[in-house]
Amino acid sequence: MYTDLHLHTHFSDGTYTPEFLAAEAKRFGLVAIALTDHDTIEGCDRTQVACEDLGIEFVAATELTAEFKGTEMHLLGYFIDTKHHSLLQEMARFQEVRQNRIREMVARLIALDLPITEEAVFTLANCNSPGRPHIARALIEAKVCRSVDEAFERFLKKNRPAWVPKFKIDAVDAIALIHEAGGLAVLAHPLLIRRDELIPELVEAKLDGLECYHTRHTPSISEHYELLADQYGLLVTGGSDCHGMNKGKPLIGSIKLPYENIRRMKSRLAVSHPSRLVPEPSGTY
Ligand code: AMP
Ligand code: ZN
Ligand code: FE
Ligand code: FE
Repeated sequence: MYTDLHLHTHFSDGTYTPEFLAAEAKRFGLVAIALTDHDTIEGCDRTQVACEDLGIEFVAATELTAEFKGTEMHLLGYFIDTKHHSLLQEMARFQEVRQNRIREMVARLIALDLPITEEAVFTLANCNSPGRPHIARALIEAKVCRSVDEAFERFLKKNRPAWVPKFKIDAVDAIALIHEAGGLAVLAHPLLIRRDELIPELVEAKLDGLECYHTRHTPSISEHYELLADQYGLLVTGGSDCHGMNKGKPLIGSIKLPYENIRRMKSRLAVSHPSRLVPEPSGTY
């Protein structure tokens, strides 16, 4: 019984619909999945329904773009209440600044005489939480670039001509917001941050878990983070970070986290937010 707790849909920068994502989860034999779109929970309702139809357990989640001591980090919020007022308010703010950032970046590309428009990017993105991968795809459609990587290398990555810094919520506030919305806060792909020395301070800020298993983590890296999680009394989570076709190839199925890890998350939730506990679907377990 395996799960994947890090997945994206077209509600942020993935390419899958919620229905296709659930069908893929079924095809790979997953018994539970979490949807972790960037700074939005808009895909959760549909994914929940699609999962129910296929007998898959669904965990409502998000991946918040945060910052701590000058370092960007992503905080996963699991089992959140997707109707929570402050959470929705914060996400609306996130989406507005994301859209403004896209406008600024497109303006810079236009200033370089490139054949791209805001409208082309927003139409292609077709979501409220757009990001640089959508601009990359618009540049490919406009035949300016041949690949997403090329678009990032030439224009979109930090300090390239179209780059504009991104709004990030302070990690301590992100953890508090996730808790306020009834969820568990987990540090995503710690290897990509490479600031293990910050983990104790995040633990002080009540971080609940570490994403030890991720497509970019080698087995020895996962083991390293398992040991850290154990040392700090943190939950162990994992997921593929599948963006559909947006990262070259679909990654769902590449990480199989034992269902036991979800049970441990629920045990922690039973202590921190007893009212949030979701009954396990009857039958298979
Ligand atoms: P944004 O939210 O606009 O900052 O875009 C972040 C997304 O862009 C994430 O999904 C990253 O994986 C992706 N990304 C970041 N850097 C690169 C890169 N050099 N090549 C391809 N994708 C990237
Ligand atoms: Zn993404
Ligand atoms: Fe991330
Ligand atoms: Fe992600």
